[in-house]
Amino acid sequence: MEYRTLGSTGLRVSALGYGASPLGGVFGAIDAAEGVRAVRTALDLGVNFIDVSPFYGATGAETVLGRALRGVDRSSYLLATKVGRYGEAEFDFSARRVVRSVDESLGRLGCEYVDLIQCHDVEFGDLRQVVEETVPALERLRETGKVRLVGVTGYPLEALAHVADRARVDTVLSYCRYTLLDRELLRWTPRFHRRGIGVINASPLAMGLLAGSGTPAWHPAPARLREHARRVARLCRRRGVDIARVALRFAAAPPEFATTVVGSASADEMTRNVRWALEPVDEDLLDEIEALVSPVLNASWPTGRPENSDPR
Ligand code: NAD
Repeated sequence: MEYRTLGSTGLRVSALGYGASPLGGVFGAIDAAEGVRAVRTALDLGVNFIDVSPFYGATGAETVLGRALRGVDRSSYLLATKVGRYGEAEFDFSARRVVRSVDESLGRLGCEYVDLIQCHDVEFGDLRQVVEETVPALERLRETGKVRLVGVTGYPLEALAHVADRARVDTVLSYCRYTLLDRELLRWTPRFHRRGIGVINASPLAMGLLAGSGTPAWHPAPARLREHARRVARLCRRRGVDIARVALRFAAAPPEFATTVVGSASADEMTRNVRWALEPVDEDLLDEIEALVSPVLNASWPTGRPENSDPR
């Protein structure tokens, strides 16, 4: 495994991180025992960064993850969870709720502290509240030892930068923004780095769009993006290469990202993912993919409050 420094925290994180949303059944029903094996396999192969949220599977992912982490040396991994998002349309970034949320997560995870607490999908909230109330409340929690670092997550990069410019955050996580289909996160990264903020790249397979196994019905990508993802899958199939392998390596390669977080509830997938993240892929194939996706490159979708969405 390759390790990189997380912003100015000095912490070393694995270039491939583990994303626990599939443990909550986000991508379809799972076998919890297999989910536990997926986590243990990732840890055994050197993954030391784990991301989860109470939102995933309505707290289900944290519960399964807590089972997987039982008995594992707490100093061997960095655990990140989130506050503020509790349902598809259920958000509460108030100081009172997020402080309670941390205690609830610690209970489910069976841990005394989390390394990183993140405001989940800030674009759905009032950014001013996130800056003036939510982040300061989480900052104060550091003194209790329940959290070590504070971060923000979301899809629109402008909203994340707005918060990062005004609040003291250690990390920014965005998803589906550095993949075969979108390169925007890398463009925004220097701006975060100037403030010493570590950048976390989530959803290298574009939440299943580039996994080669069909896209979940809830996926927000517009039809033409889905169609181009299918074309990339067909091209990879013709070349005899798994699209997930190409997509994963492409997303995880830039050293500017502290870590790239992939989700899976399968031990076999995680075994492959660790290998694929570190193995270069054929440059000619990447050139062909580049040409194929050029009509839709960086085509984002609106999300969150209209005033917080990235311009189209
Ligand atoms: P992803 O791009 O990692 O894709 C996950 C899907 O790809 C799952 O269906 C999984 O089974 C499949 N997959 C994984 N490895 C595979 C392989 N080797 N072959 C075939 N299919 C494979 O999407 P994700 O899980 O949404 O993102 C990763 C993690 O990032 C999440 O679990 C979560 O922790 C984090 N995340 C955070 C936010 C946020 O904070 N707003 C948003 C999205 C993701």
